[in-house]
Amino acid sequence: MDPIIAAGVALVTGSGSVLLAKDGAGIGQEIALGFARNGCRKFFLADIVTPGLETTKSLIEQIQPEAKVVTHKADVSNDSSVQEMIDTCIKEFGRLDFACNNAGIAMGNTLSVDVPVATFDRVHNVNLKGIFLCHKYEIAAMLKQEPLAVPGVRKASRGSIVNTASMASHSAVSLIAPYTSSKHGVLTITREDARQFGKDGIRINCVSPGYVDTPLLRGSGHGGEYVRAAEEGSPMKRLVDPAEVADGVVFLSGSAASAITGVSLPVDGGALLY
Ligand code: NAD
Repeated sequence: MDPIIAAGVALVTGSGSVLLAKDGAGIGQEIALGFARNGCRKFFLADIVTPGLETTKSLIEQIQPEAKVVTHKADVSNDSSVQEMIDTCIKEFGRLDFACNNAGIAMGNTLSVDVPVATFDRVHNVNLKGIFLCHKYEIAAMLKQEPLAVPGVRKASRGSIVNTASMASHSAVSLIAPYTSSKHGVLTITREDARQFGKDGIRINCVSPGYVDTPLLRGSGHGGEYVRAAEEGSPMKRLVDPAEVADGVVFLSGSAASAITGVSLPVDGGALLY
């Protein structure tokens, strides 16, 4: 258990992966459960589709029976929806300590010459503009609050943001240029804002997952052959478990990372070594 995680309010976007029952958990649900396992008892769960949020809520309550869990429908690509999401979080809890901006969408393999412009716009609106909008309202809220000081913890924290980037933030991935460019942008915003708001006691980092065994990967139209190739091509010869990505997010959010800001933590089984 991490005392700072136990004392704070965690927001997780994309925490209600809709294909849960059929295909296993998305990364967002596992992030929420990772916070619960580390003592967190105040949760604001957001997703554009809400039924899965109730599943995540009940799983949190199995770990933390006393937890307050608020579920909220939000579209991270929409300005007023993100503003309302943060306003509601502050109304419910009075503060926001750990913002995990995880919502994202994939796309099928397509040469750039064949990608419809609408696909580029949709992927960028959710994956990149979504992070920009979340930063805009989360940082504004964090700047208004007193740092969270917890006995026994080295440094008080005014707030931490962890974005879910990707190994595609660091390398070219053939046939998904709009996704790759959106995730490169996530890394850039993470570093820009980490530099800007470090002096205010707000840390901003990202995790860069490799091939993670989630509904997004299995349902992205890449097919079973693609999954097998991802396993075979990884130095560790397997997909990453979503709970392993969650461990990275909780680490970057918590007291052990009190001097870490502006980094991308690969959680990729070594995929970026190639
Ligand atoms: P997922 O599809 O299981 O979960 C994504 C969640 O985001 C879903 O619950 C979905 O409803 C939600 N969402 C989509 N659009 C939204 C919007 N506009 N507003 C709010 N919520 C929205 O996928 P996942 O694999 O758990 O992906 C989570 C994150 O991890 C994404 O940002 C993805 O790009 C990233 N990622 C995934 C992998 C992988 O292999 N699965 C690898 C690298 C990075």
